[in-house]
Amino acid sequence: MSPTLRESCGVFGVFAPGEDVARITFYGLYALQHRGQESAGIASANERRLYLRTGMGLVSQVFNEEDLSYLPGHMAIGHTRYSTTGNSGATNAQPCLVEGPDGSFALGHNGNIVNAAVVRADLEEQGVTFSTGTDSEVIAKTLAHAPGGTWQERWTYLMRRLKGAYSLVALTPNELVAGRDPMGNRPLSLGRLDGGWVIASETCAFDHLGATFVREIETGEVVRITEEGVESFRAAERNDAFCIFEYIYFARPDSVIDGKLIYPVRMALGAQLAKEHPADADVVIGVPHSATAAAIGFSQESGIPFVEGLVHNRYVGRTFIQPDQRIREMGAQLKYNPLPELLKERRVVLVDDSIVRATTTGPVVSMLRKAGAREVHMRITSPPIISPCFFGIDMGTRWELIAGRMSVDEIRKHIDADTLGYLSVEGLLASVGLPREKFCLACFTGSYPIPVPLQMDKLALEPALGGDRHEFEYSGAPPTVLPRP
Ligand code: SF4
Repeated sequence: MSPTLRESCGVFGVFAPGEDVARITFYGLYALQHRGQESAGIASANERRLYLRTGMGLVSQVFNEEDLSYLPGHMAIGHTRYSTTGNSGATNAQPCLVEGPDGSFALGHNGNIVNAAVVRADLEEQGVTFSTGTDSEVIAKTLAHAPGGTWQERWTYLMRRLKGAYSLVALTPNELVAGRDPMGNRPLSLGRLDGGWVIASETCAFDHLGATFVREIETGEVVRITEEGVESFRAAERNDAFCIFEYIYFARPDSVIDGKLIYPVRMALGAQLAKEHPADADVVIGVPHSATAAAIGFSQESGIPFVEGLVHNRYVGRTFIQPDQRIREMGAQLKYNPLPELLKERRVVLVDDSIVRATTTGPVVSMLRKAGAREVHMRITSPPIISPCFFGIDMGTRWELIAGRMSVDEIRKHIDADTLGYLSVEGLLASVGLPREKFCLACFTGSYPIPVPLQMDKLALEPALGGDRHEFEYSGAPPTVLPRP
């Protein structure tokens, strides 16, 4: 797992009358935990009210039996969050609740809005107030104040007004709505559950719940689920730019995206890497766990045996107990433990999914050397990351990206590897096996699928709502219609 490359969020929704929707959402979020580990939340609805529980931490830390029993109804949405805009406090946990044209609604968001500051300023000028620093609240308030008399008109307005990446789930007391931005930058799928429907960022959530995959929500599509069934429409022209990093690192290996199971794609990345950058070595190891499949692919293609030379303490980093300075300086050592018996006097190929700031890569190489490795040949299953992501992946600034300011050979020296090889963009696309036009490759090429601000300022307003239980009466308040921008 790339410790300096973090996904923003996972979203989930369920419509299942007669079922314990809070519990279903809890387990759905559990399957999406890898997409965000800072906070979690569930909103449920019966025909009269919305109920909300949010909190800091892992899904298992936020919810107990009592919380789930507090979330009644026949529909629910859920969210796991890693913050990219807004601070990581409890007040920014999602779903967020806002007052909309037909009453209150809850919204969960995965992605990042590149024109959030402008949209927010416009709304504030119209008298709309904000409680948090997240772009998710900007989305919710835009929807709440969108012109139009029907849900289709309001969602169409939303998709035209917002620029960026967003896979959304929204809940009112009588409908569950899911939408995917015109780039389809983040994944979102529809599944069938006995007597109901489910929506999830990744299909692995369906497997755990016994739900069957129906189809992906299409780019620019909005799907609405009510007692009457499922209806959908395309709210915006598609401009496909799916984040290719979902295949490289973010998505779980047992998820399927665009018909491709992630695990064999990662094996193909490793195999392609072995063709592009062969190494004279004795063993192949992967940085666990995201590079394991790729390391196996490298091994199969090269004929060099795969061994599990690094053991990963998978629970480190999933605690609120902050390490003290001495522990923090141990860095990678806290997370990985090498097996000297497998590494001593060996020439090692070390496969990882990416190098972002190189703050962990160098220490891992050094760890292998200390464990006795004679040579370390670093192989990376993505091209060099030269440009930041504005669509919801925390990579830091351009300056922080080591490949943005150093050549491959300079990086090799910096991490103290004997050789260093990155996968080419062409090799990446060939391994995924889908056309280039489908993807965002901006962090490798610097060419963004939509215009992005040169300097994206972070919204720094302090939130006012507490990350706790909120209960909203369904008010049926009339819409506040704002003029089109
Ligand atoms: S810039 Fe990179 S990480 Fe961001 S959406 Fe595009 S491919 Fe994904």
